[in-house]
Order: sequence, then C-alpha cells, then structure tokens
Amino acid sequence: MSTLIDGKAVAAKLKEQLANEVSSMSKKPGLAVILVGDDPASHVYVRNKIKACEAVGIQSYETRLPEDATQQDVEEAITAFNNNADVNGILLQLPVPKHLDSDALVQMIDPAKDVDGLSFINQGKLVAGDKSGLVPCTPQGSLMLIKEIEQDLSGKSAVVIGRSLLFGKPMAQLLLAENCTITTAHSRTQNLEEVCKQADILVAAVGRAKMVKASWVKDGAIVIDVGINRQDDGKLCGDVDFDEVKDVAGAITPVPGGVGPMTIACLLANTVQAAKNQH
Ligand code: NAP
Repeated sequence: MSTLIDGKAVAAKLKEQLANEVSSMSKKPGLAVILVGDDPASHVYVRNKIKACEAVGIQSYETRLPEDATQQDVEEAITAFNNNADVNGILLQLPVPKHLDSDALVQMIDPAKDVDGLSFINQGKLVAGDKSGLVPCTPQGSLMLIKEIEQDLSGKSAVVIGRSLLFGKPMAQLLLAENCTITTAHSRTQNLEEVCKQADILVAAVGRAKMVKASWVKDGAIVIDVGINRQDDGKLCGDVDFDEVKDVAGAITPVPGGVGPMTIACLLANTVQAAKNQH
C-alpha cells in the first residue's frame, strides 16, 4: 500500500503560511476574477476562489458578464483591472463562451498580474528558467506534492501525460528545472503503457477516467493524478485507477483531495507573490 499524498493538508499548511505573510503586509493583496456566462461549474469555482481569498486576507474583486458579452466587453473588464493599483492579480475564469477569443483575452492581462501564468511572458520565463515569472497554479501545486515525498528529484525519470499550455507543458518545464529526465506523452504517443512504466514520477493530466492502470506503473513510483472526471454515479474520479494503482505506487494523490486543493492555494500564493513584486 502506497503513501497517500494529502493535498488538502498540504494546501491548508500553505494557506496558513500565506495568511501569516498577508497579515504582515502594509497593503492587502487584491485578486480580481472575471466570470463570463452561466456555466454552473465556473460559478462554483469562482465562489470557492473568493472564499479562499477571504480566508487568507486577500481582497477579492469580481466582474460578472453575461453569456452574450462581446469581446470588447471582456477586454474593457481586463483593462479596468490592469489599471487598478489595488488589484495585484487577475484571473479570467476559463472556459469563456465559444464566441469569444479566449487566447487573445488571456494575453491582454498584464503579465505582472497574470496569476494563472498563461501569458507568453510568464510561459517564456518558465522555459528560460527566469524565476521572476508567475508559474501556472496546478503544475506548481503538483510539484509541491511530489516534493512532499522526495526533495531531490535530480536524475529521476518523469513522465507527464498531457501537453496542454495550462498543465502538461509547464509541468514538464518544472520537472526539467528539477533535473528530471522528462518525457511528455500525448494522444499520439505509442506504447503509452511502456512509456509510463519507466517513470519514477508519473503525472497524468488527460481527462480520461481511470486510464492509468496498475500495469502502467513502476513499483514505488510517485503518481500524481491531475484529472477530474465525473462518473455515471455523479462521483469524481481521476485519470488514474486509484484502487489498482495504490498497491503498486510508492505514493499517490487521491481525487478529490489531491491536486485540486493545491490549485487554489497556489493561486493565492501567486497573488501574494504578484503583490510583493508590484509593491
Ligand atoms: P486538455 O487541454 O484537454 O489536454 C489533455 C491532454 O491529454 C492533451 O495533451 C491530449 O493529447 C492528451 N490525451 C488525450 N487523450 C489521450 C490519450 N488517450 N492518451 C494520451 N494522452 C491523451 O486538458 P488539461 O487542461 O491539460 O486538463 C487535463 C485534466 O486535468 C482534465 O481532467 C482537467 O479537468 C484536469 N485539471 C485539473 C486541475 C485541478 O485543479 N485539479 C486543473 C487543470 C486541469 P493531444 O495534445 O495530443 O490532444
């Protein structure tokens, strides 16, 4: 039986540290969320983010726009927050309605306030190893969970399944910066099972329920499950078949309660970081 990596506990510890840090700052950091449309899941995410901000003393700001908001409406909301000195971080809740060009909107956010780390400037800094950038929250949180188990990752073989800008690519960069030997797998990867079986650290971010089976996992590997999938019975599960893999892995994150809580905690950490950089 493997070690269960408790993301909730690690996130709680991080939030406590942030609350202490914020209490000693002369000005409260501010995080602005822009929410476009009626997607119920996005509304829940935004509510949770605002609650988490309040709990650590970050001031939250919110602009809600209707489903039929134009590109210009959203651009104006972003510009207003870019120009507001009380706002240190800006988050455009994704996905936005299909008629909007979300890439163009994300790139409009001032890179100094881009707490999602998706601007080309912040992505470029990550690739260049420039530590002054803001790193996407979910990969940042996933690395923290890996480091709960193993501090020195140098020379480890790491496989990341998924190559999205939001997760897979920045995750691979973070592991490369830790001197891992990296493989990024995706939908065209051949012999995925064999590729995964080489990994000392296996990170799955695909969006396919229970895809990673015990036979894919090296004995003792650290397994990080980023996937969030809704099953027929309404329950959430990850991309890893937890019940099987827990008997092979050295350590594993559950879903829920693994990577998810770290994403919000790292969003708060990025907001505090952005505020310190701006002050
Ligand atoms: P995404 O943009 O849809 O990317 C999915 C990746 O998986 C793509 O690179 C795709 O390859 C690859 N893929 C699809 N089918 C595959 C297969 N059969 N074999 C191997 N690779 C395959 O998704 P994402 O935004 O990265 O998110 C991935 C998952 O993580 C989702 O379940 C999402 O809900 C979850 N997530 C969770 C959090 C959190 O806070 N816990 C945050 C972000 C995302 P191609 O590039 O070749 O298409």
